[in-house]
This record gives sequence, C-alpha cells and structure tokens, in this order.
Amino acid sequence: MRATSLLRAVLGLEHTRVTGFELTETALVVDVAPTSKVAVCGGCGCRARHVYDARERRWRHLDFAGVEVLLRYRLRRVDCHRCGVTTELVPWAEPAVGFTREFEDVVAFLAQRMDKTSICQLMGIGWETVGRIIERVVARRGSANPLDGLTHVGIDELSYRRHHQYVTVVTDLLRGRVVWVSPGKNADTVRRFFDELGSERGAQLELVAIDMSGAYIQAVREKASHATLVFDRFHVQRLAHDALDAVRRQQVRELRTDAPDAAKILKRTRFALQKNPWNLTQPEHERLALVQQHNQPLYRAYLLKETLADILDHRQPNVARRRLTEWCGWAARSRLEPFRKVAATVMTHIEGILGYVATRWSTAISEGLNGKIRTITRRSYGFHDVSNLIAMIFLCCSGITIALPRKVPRMPELRLSPS
Ligand SMILES: [Zn+2]
Repeated sequence: MRATSLLRAVLGLEHTRVTGFELTETALVVDVAPTSKVAVCGGCGCRARHVYDARERRWRHLDFAGVEVLLRYRLRRVDCHRCGVTTELVPWAEPAVGFTREFEDVVAFLAQRMDKTSICQLMGIGWETVGRIIERVVARRGSANPLDGLTHVGIDELSYRRHHQYVTVVTDLLRGRVVWVSPGKNADTVRRFFDELGSERGAQLELVAIDMSGAYIQAVREKASHATLVFDRFHVQRLAHDALDAVRRQQVRELRTDAPDAAKILKRTRFALQKNPWNLTQPEHERLALVQQHNQPLYRAYLLKETLADILDHRQPNVARRRLTEWCGWAARSRLEPFRKVAATVMTHIEGILGYVATRWSTAISEGLNGKIRTITRRSYGFHDVSNLIAMIFLCCSGITIALPRKVPRMPELRLSPS
C-alpha cells in the first residue's frame, strides 16, 4: 500500500484526496486537496468559474500517535458572481479557520467535560483559541432556532468574573435547557429577549418564572402580560433567610456588652437557624432549644422563616393565600424590622408567589442546570470575552451532543507495490 493511500485511509476525511506528505522536525505535513476539481466559493458555496491565484495554507488536524498533523493545500482565490473575490471552500474546515472541523469537535467535546489547562495541554493550543473554537462549534452544532416552541421559561441572572458582571439566562423549563443568554440583568436585557422571540412565538408562552427583581417583573408584565408570572420559591425563602440572619446579628450586637456569654452562644446558632429542621444534628437541636429559652425575638424570627417555607409547600392556592396573608400580618406585628420588610415584599408580589403554589414551576426546576452553569463560569475563568462564556454555556447546557470522530480506517482498493 502506498503511504498516501494509507494516510487517506487513516485520516478518513470526506471529499478529500491525499497527494503527498512530508515529515518535518515537528510535524507530519499531509498534502491534501478537495476531490472536486471545481473551486467552490467560501462565501456562498456556489461553484466559482474564475480562479485568481493560490497560496499555501496549513490546517491543524488531530494528532497521529502523538505526532502533530498539519494538512497542507494551496488555497485558491476565486471570483464569485455573488460574493466577489473570496477564497475557496475546503471540505475539511470552515472558511478562514486554521483548524479542521474534527480537531474543533474534539476540543468542544473536551470543553464540555474538562478544565481549561488540561485541554490546552492535551491539544497544544492556547486558551483564547479554545474560546474561539467553542464559539464556532456552537454556531455549527447548536440549535438553529432555540426559541421555537417555548411555552414555559425561567429567567435567571448569573454573576461572573468575581460577581461584578452579569448575564441573563433564559431556560426552557420543559426541556431543561438554556435557550438564550445575553450580558446584563436589567429590564432592557429581558426586553431584548422578548423582542427576539417576537409576538407570534411570544403569544405561545404560558408561564414565565423569575426571581422577584423589579427589572424582570416590569419587562415580563410589559411583554408577556398573558403568561402566568411565577416567582421563584427559593428566592422568596431566601428573603426570609436573610431577614433571620439580620435579626440574629442584631441580637448579637445588643447582647455583646451586657451579656457577652449569651452573645457568643447566639453567634454559633447561624447554621442551626438556617437549616431545615429535619436536617438538624443533635448539638444543633440543643442550640435551637437555648435560643427558644433565652432569646424570644430570634426564636420568633426562626418560626417566621419556618412557617413561610411550610406555607409554600401547600398545593391549594386558596389555603396558601389565606395563610400567606396571615403570615404577613404576623410578620408586620413581630417588632422585627427585617421581617416587616419581607412582609411588605410578599404582599406586593403575592399573585406571583401564589403562581408558584398553583403551578409548582420555579426557575429552580433547572437547579441542576444552574449548578452546571456556575461550574462552567468557574472553569471559564480567564475567558476574555463574555461571548466566550455565553458560547460555553450553550455548549454545555443547550443539549448539544458532539460525536467524537471515531472511525474504522477506510481501506482503499488493494494495490501491491511493484517491488
Ligand atoms: Zn459566493
């Protein structure tokens, strides 16, 4: 078998001939050419009649047994009747890209699973290159119309780069996948989503789950007034958790001078107070009992937090409405300023909270997805551009599956060498 035939069989590139090779000090350079003689325009894919000139170009391909493989070809400049003068399209790579599609697919496959340093070491490329490759693979392999057929969506904000910057993430709650991501977290960001969705697809929306941020509420009310607005239950509970902690800190401050020992005990109750009662350890139970005996305001705050969680477990909106209203009255009379504020917020947003009770939908349906995105954000540290991060979120959370280029060598017709 001739070496070029062997290379062709092993590389297995579609519509590609192998015409020669050279072993340099650093790489195996394989001369290739498209099987079709007619040049194709890189802009529109049409056949191009006129060829101007050609210049040698190289494309990085997958390593062969640890040896770097480069494809070499004299790329032609063509005159297309639509696009003017462009370069021709080759079967093994995207226009103006120095890597083969198979190489890029492997990088993307790894990026779905691996940290950046390992990818860079394994593939022998820089991190910024990884970012650009991911963007191209997402454009190539991602859903062409991710916003089609949406009925239940969750809108969440996500901080990145040490919490100074935000992206807004829209999730298809039924399919559990990300469908839209954009920098920013204000009303305009959400309006942009609805504008891209358009009125026809927007009319199909049945439910929008958000956290209680004013910016999101305003935009959703404007743009999807027909859809049921649901507030994330965990966000509602987080308000109570924060209020409870504010009360605890206030009590510690007040006791510090008069009763330092009592203050010390309260300091150690933070986790016991925040936890679900059924998860408490024995020492935590004992700490809570101490709070109950010695600090009435803090214990009241604890009961308020627990009762709110209990109300949100209800499944009948009528019962939940009555109990939520009672809860707000109790919180307002509690003489605990943080809880009076929570009560005011709950009363203002009661319809959306009951929306959760009636439908049980929450942005946290995609809780697993959120965790995944957070991991990605950490792994993507050092991406210079937010577009890299967005591409990474799509790569990992929008249902893109990448098949590895595993194949059996395609045997050419057997040709016995003359010697
Ligand atoms: Zn063209």
